[in-house]
Amino acid sequence: MSSQRFVVTILALALVSGARAAAQQPAAPAAPAAGPADPIATLVGRLDLERYKATIKGLTRFGDRRQGTARNSAAIDWIESELKGSGCTNTERLHYVYAGPPPRLDTGARRPPTPRAPSDRAAGGGRLRGIRAHTGVNTDSMAQPDAMLRQLNAEPSKPGPREEIYCTKIGTTHPDEMYIIGGHMDGIGWGEAANDDGSGAALVMQLARVFCAKDVRTDVSIRFVLWNNEETGLNGSRAYVEQRAALQGKESPAGSGKFPEPRWLGMIQHDMMLFDHGMPRADGTLSPTQRPEADVNVEFQSASKFAADAQALAWIFEAANEKYATDYPASVGSHMTNTDSAPFQDLVPAISLRENQRGTEIGAGWDPNWHQPTDRYSTYNDLDFKLGLNAAQTTLAAVAKLAGATLTR
Ligand SMILES: [Zn+2]
Repeated sequence: MSSQRFVVTILALALVSGARAAAQQPAAPAAPAAGPADPIATLVGRLDLERYKATIKGLTRFGDRRQGTARNSAAIDWIESELKGSGCTNTERLHYVYAGPPPRLDTGARRPPTPRAPSDRAAGGGRLRGIRAHTGVNTDSMAQPDAMLRQLNAEPSKPGPREEIYCTKIGTTHPDEMYIIGGHMDGIGWGEAANDDGSGAALVMQLARVFCAKDVRTDVSIRFVLWNNEETGLNGSRAYVEQRAALQGKESPAGSGKFPEPRWLGMIQHDMMLFDHGMPRADGTLSPTQRPEADVNVEFQSASKFAADAQALAWIFEAANEKYATDYPASVGSHMTNTDSAPFQDLVPAISLRENQRGTEIGAGWDPNWHQPTDRYSTYNDLDFKLGLNAAQTTLAAVAKLAGATLTR
């Protein structure tokens, strides 16, 4: 190429990219283009599909990781070694006791079931529409055809002491304030809990790796929590709130500059990140592949005390997705429910990220592997895993901005 043609080409490229930038962001002249100069783009670029998949696969080596079993405890130990190995070295464990499910009240009297009209009300306050498929928790070991996995999942859960693990990126200018990023590491259903919630737990672990890199600095702190006992009724996150809400913002020991529980600025939960194949068909089956219009569903709870602030937080995530996510868009909904952000929702702005809306879509049977023996790593392909990766990109970018992340070199 001659130098003259080279100059012309560069000019043409500059014009095209300038025109494109103007078309995308007409009203935001100060917004930096995502590029090498943008630390958030650099951080998002440190996430990758293969690492995300490898972390999910690592979690599935412990089967369904059901709470109250040795395989659950072994998974916590493995998560801790992964967090430490990726730079989030200040791991801690929250201890609590799970007494088992409440006893069933059986009065002995036989009453005919009360006839009820079919309701269109969904969990979390939404309205069910369209075709619904069956949902439920598989409790039959023999429904798992893989004998090795059946054996891995054989030990039953028993009541008793429990642990859950977290680590923290400590803020440089405001170590006394933090965002909480969570996913649950326990599962049920006689599969591998790969999507519910290996996909969310792996996302949290990958974000811990990126934020805790030596050259990353944040103004405020960020805590990465792997909840336990989500499937029994959010007992792990409830225990965290019960034990630690009152410690917020307190320096301990006095004068040390250390804050064991920085003040909560927001809580962001990740639960079931992979599967968005659309509504069940009339015969109850689903599309075998990710639908082309798949999206990351960011939900807040409109009935919570912090609804307005949580909604504002959700839109920050939507904007972060627009700018930084590589494949799938995000959408915002108002019916966050049934996950570990619930115990936080009346104390702090709380949102969840998911593959679908929990109440109206997952609750209507949009995920046939939910709590089933088929929730295995091998069930999903890269189009599914990419949805989880895009949720990771979304949360990473949003929290990097909120926490004032910069690169030190
Ligand atoms: Zn879950």
